[in-house]
Amino acid sequence: MTARIIDGKAIAADVRHKVAGEVRRLATQHGVTPGLAVVVVGHNPASESYVRSKAAATVETGMRSFDHRLPETASQDELLALVKKLNADPTVHGILVQLPLPKQIDAQLVLDAIEPAKDVDGFHPVNAGRFVSGLPALAPCTPLGCIILAKTVHASLAGLEAVVIGRSNIVGKPLAQLLLVEDATVTITHSKTRDLPAVCRRADLLVAALGQPEVVRKDWIKPGATVIDVGINRVPAADGKSKLVGDVNFAEASQVAGAITPVPGGVGPMTIACLMVNTVRAACAIHGLPAPAV
Ligand code: NAD
Repeated sequence: MTARIIDGKAIAADVRHKVAGEVRRLATQHGVTPGLAVVVVGHNPASESYVRSKAAATVETGMRSFDHRLPETASQDELLALVKKLNADPTVHGILVQLPLPKQIDAQLVLDAIEPAKDVDGFHPVNAGRFVSGLPALAPCTPLGCIILAKTVHASLAGLEAVVIGRSNIVGKPLAQLLLVEDATVTITHSKTRDLPAVCRRADLLVAALGQPEVVRKDWIKPGATVIDVGINRVPAADGKSKLVGDVNFAEASQVAGAITPVPGGVGPMTIACLMVNTVRAACAIHGLPAPAV
C-alpha cells in the first residue's frame, strides 16, 4: 500500500481563504477588522521565522497585524505591562506571546496575564478549563489543525480508535479533548506507556506528538490507518547539512498507512492557519457576533 499524502500546505491555504472571506464579511457587515498582536522578546532565529509567517498570514487574510518587540534583557514587569496594554486595546482581538521567553521571565505568569477572550494560542488555564467542561473556548492551534487534517480523510471521526502519542498541554492533551468532542474513542500515550507499538497498532487515527525523530515505525501502524505527524525535529542530513523530519518514519509508514501527513508540509502550515481562525473567532466573540463559518 502507498499512503495518500495529506497536503497540509494546500489545506491550510484553503482555511486561510475561508478566514479571509469571514474577515471581509465582518468588515462590510459589522465594521469590525480583527487584529492580532504578536509579542517577541529577544532574538531567536526559529521564533523570527514563525513570527514572519504569522504576520504574513494575518495581512493576507485581511486582518491587522501588530508587531511588538522587546529586547532580550526586557524584565517580566515590562512584558506584563505590554500584555496589560494589549488586553485593553479595542483594536487587538488576539494576543500571542512567542515562546520561548528569556530566562528572567516566568512564561506561565505572562501567559496567565493574557485576557482569556484574546488568548488565540488557547494556552490560558481558563480556556483549557472551559474547553474540558464543554464550554465555548479558544482551543490550541496545532490540535485544531490536526482535527481539520483528519477530517479531510474521514467525513466523521465518530467511533474511530484514536491514539495520541504525547500528553503535553499544547498538543497531546488538548488534541485528545478535541477528539473526544468529535466522538472518537481516545487513548493518550506517553513516555511511560507499556508496549507503545501495540497500543498504536489499534489506531484508526494515530497522532504522533512526542518530539523524537522518526520513532514511529512501520510495524506500529495498522494497515490503512490515518497518521498525523506533529513532530518537527532537525536532524543531520546526508549532505552534511540538516533536515526536518517528523516523529514518524515517513518512508516506512507511508507503505502501511492509508493516509499520512508529510514533514514539512503537514501539520506545520495548519498551526498558522488555525491561529487565523482563532483570531477571527475571538473578534466575533468580543463583539458579541455569531461565530464565523470557519
Ligand atoms: P513535549 O516535549 O512538551 O511533549 C512530548 C510528549 O511526548 C510528552 O508528553 C512525553 O511524555 C511524550 N514522549 C516523549 N518521548 C516519548 C516516547 N519515546 N514514547 C512515548 N511518548 C513520549 O512536546 P510538544 O510541545 O507536545 O511537541 C511535540 C512535537 O511536536 C515536537 O516535535 C514539536 O516540535 C512539535 N510541534 C509541532 C507543532 C507544529 O506546528 N507542527 C506545534 C507544536 C509542537
